[in-house]
Amino acid sequence: MHVCVTADIEKFSDAIAKYGVSCSVNDYHGLRALLDIFCEEDVPSTLFMLGRYVESTPTILDIVRENGHEIASHGYTHLDLRSLSPIALEEELSHCNRLFSARGFRAPYYGFSRLMVKYLEPYFVYDSSQIPVRSASRMDRFLNVYMLSESLMEIPISTVGIVPLTSMVLRMCPLSLAKIMALYTLKRDGYLVVNFHPWEFSFVPPEVPVPFYVTKNAGAAFIKKVKRYLKFLRELNVDFITMEQVYELYR
Ligand SMILES: [Zn+2]
Repeated sequence: MHVCVTADIEKFSDAIAKYGVSCSVNDYHGLRALLDIFCEEDVPSTLFMLGRYVESTPTILDIVRENGHEIASHGYTHLDLRSLSPIALEEELSHCNRLFSARGFRAPYYGFSRLMVKYLEPYFVYDSSQIPVRSASRMDRFLNVYMLSESLMEIPISTVGIVPLTSMVLRMCPLSLAKIMALYTLKRDGYLVVNFHPWEFSFVPPEVPVPFYVTKNAGAAFIKKVKRYLKFLRELNVDFITMEQVYELYR
């Protein structure tokens, strides 16, 4: 069985921009905490880097490379790509490509549309933007890895019933339930794909006017919980692999 741990490397201010509010947290502290957890638990990961963050703080690219993680793309601005014109979408992808090369992509807010496939194909071999239960078309409801086109693979976030195993769900639900869902998914699919964000490991002021589930249980408590979650997965004798390795296994 395989576990693929991923993270979207963005600033907290980018993550909450869609709510029209601004608030910053210690983003470096969050990133450091995330990398320390992965290092302590000996977990290789795939990090979807936001281009604008890399451009403003180029050292983060060196930091994540030093730690041996796979680098993938999270777009440039963290806008919902479904709202962009074809020219703006192309610019998002090409701008990122000029900053760093990557074989994989994840759209901000898991905002995937089939119309994006032809724009992703020239740059990437896999996409990981889909949460199967959120997709509008029946064809996008596949739970597992599948080919979006001849050259582009979809590696969706693992989902149990209507519950995607995102970091938000892990923050909200008891650890015991998260373990049961992980075990169920591993038995069903043979692999598990999970996702985190660095700001979830930082102190987030409770008064930020965003929906409660965005920041609930973030910070030190989440660091502890994720460590216990990863330890539990390791005890199941799973192999931790990167998205590129998932791609190689299933293509
Ligand atoms: Zn994001």
